[in-house]
Amino acid sequence: ITTRSHSLFDTGQTLMPGGVSSPVRAWKSVGGVPIHMERGRGALVWDVDGNEYVDLVLSYGPLIAGHAHPAVIEAIHKAAERGTTFGTTTEGEIELARRVVERMPVVEQVRFVNSGTEATMSALRLARAATGRDRFLKFDGCYHGHGDSFLVKAGSGALTLGTPDSPGVPAELAAMTLVADYNQLDSVARLFEEHPRSIACVFVEPVAGNMGCVRPAQGFLGGLRELCDRYGALLIFDEVMTGFRVAPGGYVEISGVAPDLVTLGKVIGGGLPIGAYGGRLALMQEIAPAGNVYQAGTLSGNPLAVAAGAATLDLVADEAAYQQLERMGARLQRGLEQAARQLDVPLVVGRQGSMLCPYLTGQTVNGFQDVMDSDRATWNRFFHAMLKRGIHLPPSPFEAWFLSTAHGQEHIDRVIDAAAESLREVAVGD
Ligand code: PLP
Repeated sequence: ITTRSHSLFDTGQTLMPGGVSSPVRAWKSVGGVPIHMERGRGALVWDVDGNEYVDLVLSYGPLIAGHAHPAVIEAIHKAAERGTTFGTTTEGEIELARRVVERMPVVEQVRFVNSGTEATMSALRLARAATGRDRFLKFDGCYHGHGDSFLVKAGSGALTLGTPDSPGVPAELAAMTLVADYNQLDSVARLFEEHPRSIACVFVEPVAGNMGCVRPAQGFLGGLRELCDRYGALLIFDEVMTGFRVAPGGYVEISGVAPDLVTLGKVIGGGLPIGAYGGRLALMQEIAPAGNVYQAGTLSGNPLAVAAGAATLDLVADEAAYQQLERMGARLQRGLEQAARQLDVPLVVGRQGSMLCPYLTGQTVNGFQDVMDSDRATWNRFFHAMLKRGIHLPPSPFEAWFLSTAHGQEHIDRVIDAAAESLREVAVGD
């Protein structure tokens, strides 16, 4: 029963566009009336009608320690009692900055902002300023927030300049964004050959989490590094999703490839609004007031957010936490693959530690086109079949599933059992 969610959604739609503060929450992809959550604890959430779910959304990634972890709540309480914002630097900011810099050595200095979107917009401005170039390159299927320059799709045919992906994005600005194919170094090389002296930077999700979970092919990130070096462009890893989720030092640590800048968000705020960008000292020194690249924020480095972030990072401070996340991720992957095999349903799982995505396809998934070619219509029915069985999944085949350190074997096995039944229901039909 979801009557209260229904009535809240009816009211919400009269007051907020689509009844939501972010489009994915309206369930346009999967259809139906979106449930409204009331509370969460560990791996579980309860909606406003009292239904319980194992949560694999985790607010799209931040909650690596699960919902309402006592240490995070205590850190927020303590910070709130001291005051919620001062408009000055606080010790808490320095404490979070220290953790980021220590765990991610390519980040010699860090600037805090309020969201991942702000982080990528600011890093792009810095890259343009530092190189004196206006164009930049991104990949089809990667998402870097809703900044104008990023809401761009590939131009058709021979046209390599980007075109706006939303009304309101000026075509002139979109033309500054070049779009290449993820995991296809030759598509990047071609764009550099066409524009050898005007590309400021390459933006990449080192593991693409906004088309499910697509890992970089062997040599892809290193190849980007080489091309950037050859053409004098900066390499920017957008680790808003992967940062401190996939390893103690983010995907930089796993790949061994050193980007010039890294953008962060999600986990570093432990569920409160935050973003950050950082990198080589010389570059970061170009940011105002050390340098003259302007970027500012009334609530940037907010005391509550940095307290929640530092407490969260401390909960996943060592390899052991990531090994546990890896074990649970691997268990879920095996269970899903086994269930699909038994039912003869084509399914492949993309996974990096505790972020994963099952695709209903028999093909390897290496990029955006492969995701588009998967059976998305059946996936959407699978979502509802899972929900009915008490599993809260992201409402789109393009979103990664997340696990937290609160997800134990019993939660994973609940998901696997529900998936086996759901696949039978939607793909086999009995
Ligand atoms: N970059 C990546 C890789 C993301 O996954 C996201 C959000 O999902 C963003 C940037 C934007 O972050 P935010 O939603 O905090 O603005």
